[in-house]
Amino acid sequence: MANINEEYIEEYIRSLFPSHQGILKDLELYASVNHVPIVEREVAQLLKVLLKIKKPDRILEVGTAIGYSAIIMAESTRDNCSITTIERREDMVDIARKNIEIAKYSHRIQVIHGDAQDILMNLDEKYDFIFLDAAKGQYLDFFNKCINLLNPGGVIVCDNVLYKGMTASDKLVIRRKKTIVKRLREFLKYISSLEGFESSIIPIGDGVSITYREE
Ligand code: SAH
Ligand code: MG
Repeated sequence: MANINEEYIEEYIRSLFPSHQGILKDLELYASVNHVPIVEREVAQLLKVLLKIKKPDRILEVGTAIGYSAIIMAESTRDNCSITTIERREDMVDIARKNIEIAKYSHRIQVIHGDAQDILMNLDEKYDFIFLDAAKGQYLDFFNKCINLLNPGGVIVCDNVLYKGMTASDKLVIRRKKTIVKRLREFLKYISSLEGFESSIIPIGDGVSITYREE
């Protein structure tokens, strides 16, 4: 529960989409039992639509966790689309690789183990679509590194940018999250007026930003 929207709105929107089946359903259950913060149902839906419009050949994800969003992105793209996803926790990398194998996407999804701080500096190919879903305090830094890896006409989607509403209101901010919230605010301000880019901030899930790089 991300608490950006009124519960009745969130429940209503979620009730419209058919439940996932198979591996995605299993991963949703696993995530809920083990408290893994996978994308909410309505954010998964947004990713699917954006990917079907954009039809990327190459996707980069920062924050793999158990591979749930990576598998959703694979399902929503053509068979020639490759996905590179970065995860710093070794236990997650192992779980994600197993899940990706079960989903039969090992030929398209490559999981890189390491800290995105370092990995992003060492990737040299370009991407058409980047999904940022990792340490929120580092979004500005990750974003700037990602810009260098994004083709013109490319899209960067960032998850959890409204962080339970704390980004939007001081009243909601809990003390130990102060620094992260301050950084998220700086990040959103930055992408909102960045020359050569067009951004939108959407209050679904835990808040999602979409940034388009002009061609
Ligand atoms: N995108 C996934 C959920 C990712 S949860 C999904 O929706 O299915 C965020 C993940 O980012 C966690 O597993 C965490 O270990 C990882 N992470 C956080 N900071 C990171 C960093 N600096 N480098 C790489 N991975 C990071
Ligand atoms: Mg997220």
